[in-house]
Amino acid sequence: MIIDFRKIPKEEFEIDVKEGEVSLKARVFKKKSNLLVCQGKISGTLEHHCDRCGAPLPVALDEAVEVWISDGAIPLEEEGHLLNLVEFFDGRVDFCAILHSEVEAIKSDYFYCQTCEN
Ligand SMILES: [Zn+2]
Repeated sequence: MIIDFRKIPKEEFEIDVKEGEVSLKARVFKKKSNLLVCQGKISGTLEHHCDRCGAPLPVALDEAVEVWISDGAIPLEEEGHLLNLVEFFDGRVDFCAILHSEVEAIKSDYFYCQTCEN
């Protein structure tokens, strides 16, 4: 799901994108002309594996997310409190790419199957 920044409506709107069995449902609104806020939830099942033994390990996700999205670089001092900022440099927002990077961030955590946890 890709939207041109200049076509982003003034009014809040909703997105719903999927990657495999994981979905991102969120509301998106304009903070400034070049800055969007995406607040929602990542839910579904992530096909993952145990980080110790490699056994398949589906991970149930139900996580609140807040992503700030900018059209080009924004000065950090201006939005210095932003922890989760995604910058796009081609004038378009790609919500699938945002979901993908959130999923990759979740995958970078460690997950252990029941056998390894005990
Ligand atoms: Zn294991």
